[in-house]
Amino acid sequence: MLTDVFFYNFSRWTEIKLEEIEYYLQKNFRNLSFNNNKNDNRLSRLFHLNLNLAYFQSKCIVQNIKRELDSNQILPFKDFPEDHFMFGIKPICNQEYYLTRFQDFILKENLLLYDGILLQKLYQEILCQLDFEVNLSELHIIITDKLLGSFDDIDWKYHARSVIFGNPTILSTSGLIYGPARPKEYYLKVLYHSRDPELLAEVENEYRGKFIEYNDNRINSIIEGLSMQSICYMIEGDPFCNDSNCRLFNSHWQEELIRLNLNTNICKKHLKIIKNNTSRLI
Ligand SMILES: [Zn+2]
Repeated sequence: MLTDVFFYNFSRWTEIKLEEIEYYLQKNFRNLSFNNNKNDNRLSRLFHLNLNLAYFQSKCIVQNIKRELDSNQILPFKDFPEDHFMFGIKPICNQEYYLTRFQDFILKENLLLYDGILLQKLYQEILCQLDFEVNLSELHIIITDKLLGSFDDIDWKYHARSVIFGNPTILSTSGLIYGPARPKEYYLKVLYHSRDPELLAEVENEYRGKFIEYNDNRINSIIEGLSMQSICYMIEGDPFCNDSNCRLFNSHWQEELIRLNLNTNICKKHLKIIKNNTSRLI
C-alpha cells in the first residue's frame, strides 16, 4: 500500500512551488507522507554533478522520430563504477543529437526529445542504487524540463508526453507545452502565416492564454493535477477518469487541461477513492 510520496524538482521554472503542491495533496491524501526527501539530497547531488548520468541520459535522446530507441542500447547504469565515467568517457554533447525532423515549435526551442520510458528505467535504476525503495509503498515523482516522448505503435512515431506514469513518475514541463494539442485553428493559422513574422506574432497574441507557455503561472496547478493522477495510478492502477469534468480526466487539449486544473473539480468516484485510501490506514 502506498504510504510515501517523494518529489524531486529538477525544473528551472520558478513558477513551480512544490510546497503548495504538497500542501494540497496532503489535504486530500491525508494518510500519505509528502516531502520526505528534504534531508536527503543524494539524488539532487547525483543529477547535478555526475557525469555518468549525463552520459546515460544522452543515450535516451531520440535520434529519429519514426524509429523507436532500442532499450538494449542502454547498458545497466549499475554495471559501471563511478570513477570509470568521471575520468574515462566524456558526456556526449547534446548538440550532436540535435533533432532535425520534429515539429517547428520544438526546433525553434532547440529542445531534444527523450524516450520517456527509457529515461524512467534509468532513473529507476539510479533510485535503487541509491538505496531508495521503488515499490508500491513509495512513489517517486521527478519533475523535469526535458521534453519526453513515447513511441506509438499505431502511427509509428514518437509523441511528446507531459507525464510518464509509473515509479518513478516523470512529469515534464516541456511535455506540457508540446504534448496536449493547441486549438486546431491555431495550427492552421500558424501554417498559413508561416512566412510572415508579423502575422505570426498576431496569431500568437490572438491565442495567448489558451495554451501553456514558458514560465506560465498556471503550471503549478497542472503539476498538482498530474501528481494527483500519478498517485491514483499507484493506488488504482488507472490514472484517468472518464468524467470530462473531473481533474483526473485524460486531457488531450491544452484548453481542457487548463480548465480542469484551474477548476480543481474532482468527481464523486475519485473523491471516494481518495477518501478510502485515506481511511484504509486509520
Ligand atoms: Zn474522476
